[in-house]
Amino acid sequence: MKKLIAGNWKMNCTLTEAKYLIADIVNGISDRSDLTDKCKFLVCPPFIYLPTIRHATVQYGTLSYGAQDCSEQENGAYTGDISADMLKESGCTFIICGHSERRQYHKESNALILKKAEKVQEKEMCAIICIGESEKERDAGKHLDVVLKQLEECLPEGSRADNTVIAYEPVWAIGTGKTATAEDIEDMHGAIRDRLRKTMDDADDVRILYGGSVKPGNAQEIFSIENVDGALIGGASLSADDFLGIADKV
Ligand code: PEP
Repeated sequence: MKKLIAGNWKMNCTLTEAKYLIADIVNGISDRSDLTDKCKFLVCPPFIYLPTIRHATVQYGTLSYGAQDCSEQENGAYTGDISADMLKESGCTFIICGHSERRQYHKESNALILKKAEKVQEKEMCAIICIGESEKERDAGKHLDVVLKQLEECLPEGSRADNTVIAYEPVWAIGTGKTATAEDIEDMHGAIRDRLRKTMDDADDVRILYGGSVKPGNAQEIFSIENVDGALIGGASLSADDFLGIADKV
């Protein structure tokens, strides 16, 4: 399985910066033709830059793009929201659901994230379902229970490997420079895989990404861990050198 190298730009970049960043990424990928045999690339910019990213990818065709969130509603009077249909029409193939920053700042619950993931799958896109424990939960030794409960409650019934990606992102590792140990990642990804096997025939083909301060300097170790099928990258995805430097470690 190709590793998925996914960039979450969050609420960053001016339009000009976004144009340069995507151009540097697509040029960097085309300079490294061997990498596309091993990696699948994805960028998730702010909604408003999707047409810019579409233009760049139509021109070069080297990477997929997606969104950082979508509404669980079909359409209607939901001011400020963006529907899965709109994103699909904009060319998105992946949608991040339940990022910890959405859980924290927008109070998204597992029940809401489940509805969003169902909507994404219904529209034939791939839901990247984010799960992860807080530092307090890990310190209390509850991390496995918390993360498996999130998985249980956010994974739509009938999910398949071609419409589901799981991103394990310990909340305390996001944007902090801290990363989980290789042993912790291996244990958690193994537990996630085991849980997926309970309800999915193609569980072994589901990508499980690790996220949380992934950088070129720690990517090699992270990618060598069993059941790590790629990375969800925040801060380091805002530099083409770092983003591709991470992929170089695959
Ligand atoms: C993220 O936003 O999903 C993330 C993992 O961020 P960072 O790489 O900056 O920790």
